[in-house]
Amino acid sequence: MQPPKSDICVICETNPATTDEHVPPRGFFKGLSGQFRTVPACSACNNGSSKDDEELRLYISAQIGKQTEAAKILWEKGAHKSILRSTQLRSTFMSTLREVPVVLPNGEVANRLTFLVPLALYKRVFERVTRGLFFWHTSSILPRDTSVKIQLLVSMPDLDSPDLKALEAHTVVEGAFKYRFGIDPENNRNTV
Ligand SMILES: [Zn+2]
Repeated sequence: MQPPKSDICVICETNPATTDEHVPPRGFFKGLSGQFRTVPACSACNNGSSKDDEELRLYISAQIGKQTEAAKILWEKGAHKSILRSTQLRSTFMSTLREVPVVLPNGEVANRLTFLVPLALYKRVFERVTRGLFFWHTSSILPRDTSVKIQLLVSMPDLDSPDLKALEAHTVVEGAFKYRFGIDPENNRNTV
């Protein structure tokens, strides 16, 4: 599918579009191939986001660990390199590491390593991704006065549950990025 065109940046709805922005960010998937999507964006939105993207990649990778083959590649080719290269990113991340006691499923208590998740960063990046994907699917820009609600879940939702199955499924990168979406035909601002 050809990406829809726009003269205005589809992320900020303000500046002229002079470049293409990957949604989700291409840099999240170093070492993996997939069905990447691009949308027209201004250079401010495009350049201003790369630091956020690198930082978020580290947090997501640290949360997931190396549970799957794709997650392992993402850590080794992406987040692990960032943490070796960037002292600032490393110290910010390390400064929130704490050992906390948790109750295991068998009732025993054990210490586990935890870190603080920067919610504002997740919201910024996923709002951009959401606005980009909205445009990609509808060919219309989500107006700035329509808020994007980002909710972080404690665990992976079951994308195959009956409720979510009613929504259209897309895979961007196998094993790494999948989403479902639904557009309200009467008012496309009510999009999930
Ligand atoms: Zn912009």
